Amino acid sequence: MERVNAWTTYKKREEKKVMDLGKAYRAFLDNGKTERECVREAIRLTEKAGYVDLAKAETLKAGDRVYVNTMGKAIQLYIIGQEPLEKGINIVGAHIDSPRMDIKQNPLYEDSDLAYLDTHYYGGIKKYQWVTLPLALHGVVAKKDGTVVDVVIGEDEDDPVLGVSDLLIHLSAAQMDKKASVVIEGEALDVIVGGKPQKDVEKEPVKAAILAILKEKYGMEEEDFLSAEIEVVPAGKSRDFGLDRSMIIGYGHDDRVCAYAQIEAMLQITETPKYTCCCILADKEEIGSVGATGMQARYFENAMAEIMDKLGEYSELKLRRALSNSRMLSCDVSAGFDPSYAASFEKKNAAFLGKGVCFNKFTGARGKSGSNDANAEYIGKLRAIMEEGKVIYQTAELGKVDVGGGGTIAYICALYGMNVIDSGVAVLSMHAPWEIISKADLYEAVKAYRVFLVNA
Ligand code: MN
Ligand code: MN
Repeated sequence: MERVNAWTTYKKREEKKVMDLGKAYRAFLDNGKTERECVREAIRLTEKAGYVDLAKAETLKAGDRVYVNTMGKAIQLYIIGQEPLEKGINIVGAHIDSPRMDIKQNPLYEDSDLAYLDTHYYGGIKKYQWVTLPLALHGVVAKKDGTVVDVVIGEDEDDPVLGVSDLLIHLSAAQMDKKASVVIEGEALDVIVGGKPQKDVEKEPVKAAILAILKEKYGMEEEDFLSAEIEVVPAGKSRDFGLDRSMIIGYGHDDRVCAYAQIEAMLQITETPKYTCCCILADKEEIGSVGATGMQARYFENAMAEIMDKLGEYSELKLRRALSNSRMLSCDVSAGFDPSYAASFEKKNAAFLGKGVCFNKFTGARGKSGSNDANAEYIGKLRAIMEEGKVIYQTAELGKVDVGGGGTIAYICALYGMNVIDSGVAVLSMHAPWEIISKADLYEAVKAYRVFLVNA
């Protein structure tokens, strides 16, 4: 049952491919720090390869490539296959939202000659990790006149950055005795944005100066925060990690590493596949896949109905057959075994950095609660596909029994009665502002998703 380290299997030429893929992925990560930016990148990459908006395609035929854009925050890509959809399709699904802090609707205030933006954190974070870091703002401001302004501050080398302060160690005796979950309180995650009062303004002059800058740069008034979605994320680019450059440190590997692997796998399919291939990039996974852009919304099912209609194949019964006959890899990151925290893992069933794409038969917490537990028969079939495709893979579960748990979008697609299994890339420091993956695992994930899409 020993799994091989992928790096030991690469010859020179293949190792170069691994490194080149890592470089391309880093560009995707740097350009896609929010779900909106990831959707834009996905469209940019796929339109170059001939994908068109499904809404603009009147009819469809085998070989066509289309995308479905859901409110600019979730996207699906399809390659129409030779078989009718009612026989089922092959789906890879990941999420493109990541843990962060969101700016509140009434955020701007001044205290002691400093101006702040108040935030509400999004997803599961260790709050103490988000202080004393250079942070950037990414998002949109939707104005009353219908215009939408893009905001990105803190990424250009010449841009200013923002951040949350922490108490100096000299005065931290009481703070250091607190539990880690409350050592930094959620309401204390306020971002410092200014410290220079506007001359000739008496009331809140620092805030007034910040508002003047926002007006000048983005044409926005304070009230426009009411209809803004601005995310606070770590500022700066992803980097090669390790003296051997075998890894990448970056913001949002969860789950953009799987999202990128899926897009790359779709782009590598240049033939017309037997079964229709689908790549889902969902929003809101980190808060339970809720809302109109989360996986629980019916955009996947609706897109399938539209596609069947444009193929001249639609009926309610055929749609239901298409959904239940489909096969899916729910692609999400897994906890990488961390020798510094070995006690939280069970080593025989842990994912190791460098040992390839990881399959999780089940996730969940306690007695597998909330888990999509994949069928043995399905895993048997996947083993054959992976071995035939020379994919290096491992199997794991998320930590030791009863230590914790987690979930993905797998259970939502399983509601249609299709076969689903979790599969992804192992991450160190998952959900931290800067997470770490191995380039080899990304490379094996692309291989795995490609052979799955073509051969499942
Ligand atoms: Mn995830
Ligand atoms: Mn996550």
